[in-house]
Amino acid sequence: MFARVALIGFGLIGGSIARAARAQGLAKEIVATARSEKSRQRVRELAVVDRVVETNAEAVKDADLVILCIPVGDCGRVAEEIAPHLKPGAIISDVGSVKGAVVREMEPHLPKGVHFVPAHPVAGTEHSGPDSGFAELFVNRWCILTPPEGSDAAAVEKLQAFWAAIGAKVEVMTPDHHDLVLAITSHLPHLIAYTIVGTADELEQVTSSEVMQFSASGFRDFTRIAASDPTMWRDVFLANKDAVLEMLGTFNEDLSKLTRAIRRGDGDALFEHFTRTRAIRRGIIQLGQDSAAPDFGRVHASLPKPQEK
Ligand code: NAP
Repeated sequence: MFARVALIGFGLIGGSIARAARAQGLAKEIVATARSEKSRQRVRELAVVDRVVETNAEAVKDADLVILCIPVGDCGRVAEEIAPHLKPGAIISDVGSVKGAVVREMEPHLPKGVHFVPAHPVAGTEHSGPDSGFAELFVNRWCILTPPEGSDAAAVEKLQAFWAAIGAKVEVMTPDHHDLVLAITSHLPHLIAYTIVGTADELEQVTSSEVMQFSASGFRDFTRIAASDPTMWRDVFLANKDAVLEMLGTFNEDLSKLTRAIRRGDGDALFEHFTRTRAIRRGIIQLGQDSAAPDFGRVHASLPKPQEK
């Protein structure tokens, strides 16, 4: 599909794209780079790309597809750095979890004659770094493309085909709509998880060792999300400030309604609310976006052998 693909950044997302693109034979050559020599050295050892280079400028040389797989806050700076080295006709994309800010910060630097098609694969784990990627990450997950108005249709189609070839389902929307949708489906849930895990850690009446020891599934599931990469999530909240604040306003109103129901002992209101939310979980499973296995399919330890008398 491409003669040369350049991946700037080789963490969970860059590493997964590299492994998947190689497995599907989508590029004659995959070139990668990362910010630190430590990460670049690890990528060399992993041997999942054809070449590891020292600089972003070197990586994009003669590449037909360039994907920035770096924190959102660095995208503008890196676009400026690579701009003079881009091949005319190349497709430039990214994988940032926020689209409006990334488009505003990258687009002014990009030269005429390259095709800018921002993207966001809605897939991930709480792990990061060169070892965390895997080829199957995008299978059956959505990848949202947010091409600016007037984008070259052939370039958009080609990137769409690339994501489809590594297993993703592709949707196109505007950057602002993307940011609103993701504020409620991803950014706010992360903020809530970061809050609740922090709150539990700071309690005085319950020690943090008790919190860990007795973490029932609710808290345990929040800790998975709250273990996500601090740099990535700092950048997401800074870059998607408006949409997150808007959703947070609505969330706070709804939380007040539930608080009032608990205070007044209004069991009907609680029951009705919980019944409605349960249906959403069923809908997600029906759409194939999660497993129907109880407790996310966690394996339970066997019972101890009965003691002989
Ligand atoms: P990650 O595992 O932390 O990897 C980030 C990579 O970017 C590292 O290789 C890092 O190099 C490199 N990097 C950082 N700044 C750079 C720079 N200025 N120039 C060159 N390389 C640079 O992060 P990730 O989880 O893959 O996330 C990358 C992007 O994907 C973010 O924009 C995030 O919003 C988006 N995203 C993440 C997820 C998720 O669940 N994680 C899901 C969808 C989209 P060093 O290792 O040397 O620092």
